[in-house]
Amino acid sequence: MSNTLDLAIALLKKQSLTPQDAGCMDLMAEYLEQRGFNIEWMNFGDTRNLWARRGNATPLFCFAGHTDVVPTGPLDQWDTPPFEPTIKGDLLYARGAADMKGSLAAMLTACDSFIQQHADHNGSIAFLITSDEEGTALDGTVKVMHALNKRNEKIDFCIVGEPSSHKIFGDMVRVGRRGSINGYLKLIGKQGHVAYPELVENPIHRLAPILSLLTAEKWDEGNDHFPPTHFQISNLNSGTGATNVVPGHADMAFNLRFSSELTPAEIKRRITYIIDQHSDNYELTWALSGLPFITEKGTLTNAVEKAVHEVTGISPVLSTGGGISDGRFIAPSGAQLIELGPINETIHKINECVSVKDLDTLSITYCKVLENILLVSIE
Ligand SMILES: [Zn+2]
Repeated sequence: MSNTLDLAIALLKKQSLTPQDAGCMDLMAEYLEQRGFNIEWMNFGDTRNLWARRGNATPLFCFAGHTDVVPTGPLDQWDTPPFEPTIKGDLLYARGAADMKGSLAAMLTACDSFIQQHADHNGSIAFLITSDEEGTALDGTVKVMHALNKRNEKIDFCIVGEPSSHKIFGDMVRVGRRGSINGYLKLIGKQGHVAYPELVENPIHRLAPILSLLTAEKWDEGNDHFPPTHFQISNLNSGTGATNVVPGHADMAFNLRFSSELTPAEIKRRITYIIDQHSDNYELTWALSGLPFITEKGTLTNAVEKAVHEVTGISPVLSTGGGISDGRFIAPSGAQLIELGPINETIHKINECVSVKDLDTLSITYCKVLENILLVSIE
């Protein structure tokens, strides 16, 4: 088994519903071990992570990704079974085809052809692979990075194989991600009969001006790398179901996707200030999903832009859009990090698919990036 398509199919047959790996990493580890990689299993909780490194020299170039996939959704809506990879025309259908087992296969074959052609390259190559990305992401990349930092093993350049392309392969590369923070507000009132307003305190009425302030707030202007921060309410609940009862509390969950102009502390301060103007009886809790990060133009972005252009003729847009990724755990270590992968149109959907041709193109592009980084001397 050597080509990208074969490897992708072998990975896609394994039912690695998050946080399960279902043997995907064993397949990858075996492939890498045969090519001189040192295999290290980093297990945290029930999660198994693979750290494979070939050589000890610097700079260290790392491919990062995940073997877990999101649930299939209703099986009867799939045209072909999600764990029986099926090719129709140029498209390979299976859960995880685009997100991101196709990329994992392309990383493996890219390494293989790079090592075969340039056995005496500079630096070293590593793989950081987890099966805890689509779920809680508590025992995956974040813990591996912690362990690597502790022993001073530093990643200089990293490509995450998330499907970054929009309309055609290579049209978009992610160079950063916005931050994401969730807030949970419980506004407390006093329950009672609607006919006795003097005996109740309606939390929905209290919430109304808060909502209008929060939704009208201009959080920042964004900057060269990031669009302006925006606020969205995801859940709003109150009421007992009865028409003659004022409820005792109103609950709201909200999210901010934020630029590097804001910090979580500043967001918390501003939102608390708004709520304080209209209520002194509430509970507010927070969950930070990720800080914003950005890889400035430099060695890696140049290498990637050049590789994509050489292989496809396209000049990719460097973007910070989209959701969060495991890049948020790797970038803070100081690594230059970008995300490059296939078209993301069908990810997480019924009938997820990837272009077979794009898998080969991706492998060639990854190989070119390795050449652009590890065949030139870098101080
Ligand atoms: Zn993914």
